[in-house]
This record gives sequence, C-alpha cells and structure tokens, in this order.
Amino acid sequence: MPVREMLQKIKPAWISGVSQRLAKGEGTRLLFRVQLDNFYQLLIQAVDSGNPIVMNGLLDEWIQSRTQTDVNLQKSTLIPILEQFILVFYEIATENLDQAVGLQTLGAILPVLTHAIGYSTQVEARLYLDQYLKQEEESRMSLERLERSKSDFISIAAHELKTPLTLIEGYSAMLREIFRDIKDNDQSQILIKGIENGTHRLRQIVDDMIDVSMIDNQLLELKYQPIRIGRLLDLIQREFHDVAATRNIAIEQNSFPGSEETTFGDEERIYQALHNVVSNALKFTPDGGSVTIDGRLLPGFLEIIVIDTGIGIDPINHARIFEKFGRLGEASRHSSGKTKFMGGGPGLGLPITKGILEAHGGTIWVESEAHDDVGCPGSKFHILLPIRKRPPDEKMAKLFRSSIQTGELKDPYK
Ligand code: ADP
Repeated sequence: MPVREMLQKIKPAWISGVSQRLAKGEGTRLLFRVQLDNFYQLLIQAVDSGNPIVMNGLLDEWIQSRTQTDVNLQKSTLIPILEQFILVFYEIATENLDQAVGLQTLGAILPVLTHAIGYSTQVEARLYLDQYLKQEEESRMSLERLERSKSDFISIAAHELKTPLTLIEGYSAMLREIFRDIKDNDQSQILIKGIENGTHRLRQIVDDMIDVSMIDNQLLELKYQPIRIGRLLDLIQREFHDVAATRNIAIEQNSFPGSEETTFGDEERIYQALHNVVSNALKFTPDGGSVTIDGRLLPGFLEIIVIDTGIGIDPINHARIFEKFGRLGEASRHSSGKTKFMGGGPGLGLPITKGILEAHGGTIWVESEAHDDVGCPGSKFHILLPIRKRPPDEKMAKLFRSSIQTGELKDPYK
C-alpha cells in the first residue's frame, strides 16, 4: 500500500491518540482535533511533494498563538508537542502495522517532522530573543525613568528648601546678634548654638543636593586655575587632624612624585572631592584605625590613593556607592555626623566626587575585598586626575598665557 494511503488509514488513530494525551477536557479536545486534522493534511502534502516547507505556515500560527497567550516562552514551546506527535506515530506503527510497512511509513514522515522541530526551534529562539531584548529595553527605560525621578526630586527639593533655610539662617544670625553680650554658658547661647548646628548640617545637605542636580544636568562650571594637589592634601589632613586625634585614628600623608607639580583644575571642587573621600575613610574606620593618603605619577595623570582600615565594601556594591543615595546598610544604622564612626549622610558625597572628577577628565574607583564591621578589611579609593599644563577654556588660557608659553607655571601659593 502506498505511504499516502497508509497515512490516511492511521489518521483517526493518530488524531485520537494525540488529543487524548495532550488536550484536557472534551471541549478543548474537539478544537484540538480540528488543528490536528489541518496538521495531518499538510503532513501528507509534505510527504507527497517531498517538500516539508509547506508545514511552516501552520507552525508559525501555532507558535504565535502560544507565545501571545503565554509570557513564559520556555513553557510554551512547541517542541514537546511535536515530540508527542512522533511518539504516537511510533506506537501506532509498532502496534498496528507490520514491520516493513511501519518502517516505510515512519521513514516517510520522520524527515517532515524533523524539519518541523528544527523550524519551530529556530522561530521560537528568534521570538525568545526578541522578547528578551524587549524586556531588557523596558527595564532600561524604567531605570532611566527612575533615575530621572531621583534627579527631579533632588532638584525640586533642593530649590524648595533653599528659601526657608536662608530665612532660618538669617533669623538665627539676628538672634546671635541680639544675644551677643550674654555669657557663653547662658541657656539662650546653648539654644542658638543648637539652631546653628542644625541649620549648618541642613545647609550641607541642600548644597550637596544642588551640586548633584548641577552634575546631573551638566551645569557644573569648573573654574580652572593652577593648583598643587599636595597642598590640597595638606589642608585636608590639617582639617581632619583634631577629629582623627579624638578618635585615635592616625592620618598619614605620604609625599609622592607629582604631588608638588602645578596642574590646572578647579581648586574648590577638587578640594571638595578629596575631602569627601578622606571624610568617608574616617567615617567608616573604627577608632584606633588608620587612614593613609598616598599617590603616584602616571603618564599624563596623577593618581591619589586613600587607604583606610575600616569596615570595607562588598565588591557587589562597588558601583552602587557612586550612585545617588547609594549609602549601604539600613538607614537607621547611621549616627549623624561627618566624621563619627558610621556617621550618617544622604549618600550624595561619592556621586558628587565622581561628577567633579569626571568633569575634570578624571575618574574614581574603589578596591575592597569585603564588608566586615568586625574584621575590618579596609578600602582603597583610587582617584585619577589628568595633569593639565593649560586650562581647557581658551579665555582662561589667555589669562595664564605668559606662564604657559614659558612652561614655567608660577607656584600658585607663593
Ligand atoms: P554618605 O553621605 O552616606 O557618606 P557617600 O556617597 O559619601 O554617602 O558614600 C556612600 C556609601 O558608600 C556610604 O554610605 C558607605 O556605605 C559607603 N562608603 C563610602 N566610603 C566608604 C569607606 N571608606 N569604607 C566603607 N564604606 C564606604
């Protein structure tokens, strides 16, 4: 009997076998049988013509309808169904046909079914990839939206806080003036000091918020002038000397090649960036530890390294700490203060530092093995700053023209 006739003969048994296995419930089975019938017709056509491509249209339709209803593509793959089709054919052939006819029938349909599996795998893989790329794009967009909301929030909050804060500062200055002649230990002096401390801290936070918002909107203006990194580090070390002494932390500053070279940069901003890193090193180092400021000269760059013996940072968080509000650990953990052990902060210091350094063409990164409050593995912050022999701004370059031309920049601090 020719294969075509044999296929027609076993069709009812195949359709019933497959629908019993794969379709649950009478209603579904009925619909499924119609689909199976279509499939079978095409299978016969493909066997007749020797061209399995005729199956593609129906396979596309099935794949599309399955993937549209099922978000999890892995679950909705057509492959296990096609495998069941082959198994039912095999069972019918072994149970109902004699060996030679069975082999002949299987030999005719297997290439078509193998094509169907290969084709479906390809189409599904493409769909899976498309879906994956779409999800990735959606997550990227929602991250971008989140980033924009953070940025908008900071900028609006900072500007809304600025006016009342200026009023409080003004009134507390007036109070200070009114009570000027009253003794230091008087109750009113203590109260005024309390208001001043609070407003000072709030001013620092609002200033940080304004800085972040300027960096986010690329509005940070750098005032390039000749500077010496060694001198800025001296100033910072001096500023933290007393605080470090009260906490029994040794601050060591090594002089390194290049630290005394004159380079162009925004002195105030670079000071702010270095100050943030050293202040964090003190803040996250327990009493009795040490902070070392070191560095080296690289071709075209100066590297400043701040090493502490503090609680360290888990490598998983190395990128996060440079993001806005990237403070780690629970919010309630922090005591408040810029240099107290684990002193609080809104998590804006490092993003500002990074923004300032990047605006100069530099960068910052951290090295730390782990976070451990007890074992204290420490952290190493690396700051890379380009050495500039002239400011990037032409107007400023004109101002320093004579010294730039001779290559002898005057020491800015003499
Ligand atoms: P904050 O205002 O909280 O200090 P930063 O942006 O300066 O914000 O730092 C973000 C977070 O990075 C900190 O809250 C802290 O968890 C972590 N961090 C920064 N510097 C160090 C350090 N030297 N050692 C350990 N953790 C640090």
